[in-house]
Amino acid sequence: MNCIDYRRLITSEPSHIGADAMRHRMACRACADFTRETQQLDSHLRDAMMVETPADLEARVMLAATGQSRRRGRRVALAASVVVVFAAAFTVFNSYSPERLPRHVIKHLYHEAALLVPSETELVPRKRLVQVLERTGVRLTQDIDHVVHAGICYFRGHLVSHLVVNSEQGPVTVLLLPDEQVSKTMPIDEDGFLGLIVPVKGGSIAVIGSGATYPRPVEQKFIEAVEWST
Ligand SMILES: [Zn+2]
Ligand SMILES: [Zn+2]
Repeated sequence: MNCIDYRRLITSEPSHIGADAMRHRMACRACADFTRETQQLDSHLRDAMMVETPADLEARVMLAATGQSRRRGRRVALAASVVVVFAAAFTVFNSYSPERLPRHVIKHLYHEAALLVPSETELVPRKRLVQVLERTGVRLTQDIDHVVHAGICYFRGHLVSHLVVNSEQGPVTVLLLPDEQVSKTMPIDEDGFLGLIVPVKGGSIAVIGSGATYPRPVEQKFIEAVEWST
């Protein structure tokens, strides 16, 4: 893939660019920068739209509207009910069934696609890794090497650890999901990503790479090395 094709794709279909484009971005500094800028703009827009609506918003807006002219009050009430309907639709759209878990994992990867570009080769210090894991209820029972990113993300209604590990097959994303119970291993094979969601005691672990094979070694490592403290 060349730069023109890549940029056309990232601007028209930012959430479905596929592994080919990912590889171009890893190899091309200019396109990596371009993507970062586009995504920053994107996330500012999203933040502006995703303001959480308090449960009593409608009532509060109605209350605020009383005492003002009736016409204005009606208009505000209408706006409030639109917000409430929108929030309800959003909840239904985001139903957290286990069947949708693989799709949500891929979506989350795209949401933070910059993490798949191994630009920071600096390793995450063990202390920081332990802190991140602790905050999401995970204990480390063995050391994990080659961790290049460790962050806490909001995923399907919960805080989860989001790690990126450098492996022989390139960067592999690991999401530790204490609150997601799956009854058996779920494969992920989408847009050039290959991964697995494996059940572990107390939750599940999603491991996703963009190499030619499932990132089994990383999966095995994590199954051995993490434990849920809840
Ligand atoms: Zn390029
Ligand atoms: Zn994340």
